[in-house]
Amino acid sequence: MIITIDGPAGSGKSTVAKLLAQRLNVRFLDTGAMYRAVALAVLQGGAEESDAQAVARIAAEVEIGFEKETVLLNGVAVDVEIRSPEVTAISSVVAANPAVRTRLVELQRGVGRQGSLVTEGRDQGSVVFPDARFKFFVTASVDARARRRHRELIGSGSNLTLSTVRTQLQQRDARDENRVHAPMKPADDAVILDTSDMSIAQVVEAVATLVEQ
Ligand code: C5P
Repeated sequence: MIITIDGPAGSGKSTVAKLLAQRLNVRFLDTGAMYRAVALAVLQGGAEESDAQAVARIAAEVEIGFEKETVLLNGVAVDVEIRSPEVTAISSVVAANPAVRTRLVELQRGVGRQGSLVTEGRDQGSVVFPDARFKFFVTASVDARARRRHRELIGSGSNLTLSTVRTQLQQRDARDENRVHAPMKPADDAVILDTSDMSIAQVVEAVATLVEQ
């Protein structure tokens, strides 16, 4: 059984997907981490994120894997590095590259073939797993999302202001929504949840209730 949870940055989809996977005792796939790992490889390779050919070459060469929930780039754990502001800033540029998407979609479908999965991202229900048993699109107002992301960043030692976080979030949303290949959007048959006024526990309960019914 495949369950897809898509949505914009700061919507809470990662936490919800992880908790849902634990509750159902199935695997969890963070596809954003895969795009971030390619973005990190681009930075490490000294390439420009806007150089489509160089990015495509890097995407073809890198090895991306998971050990439990730890992301491996060429066999090395990069959980911390992929959350840096530099990687976050270029991840949506790298993710607009069709060669990157083709490579990662193939890897994601491979994970899906290994058994039940809760997978989260931007295109999991619309493109990667069109036949998923349950599809959710989790969203929230830009203010609510910026507040959540800001709180997380402050907790991990960042000193970015709320207004900077909000602007960066909107830039990333715009790139994700307007790209030509697999733009972020709910699948036609997705259940849309606005979580602006919901706690994570309430969202997990709402999603799990629908799945368990
Ligand atoms: O979800 P997260 O913020 O980690 O994703 C980082 C970036 O990866 C997103 O801004 C988006 O550009 C890209 N992404 C994507 N498709 C996915 C998951 C993430 O394009 N399925």
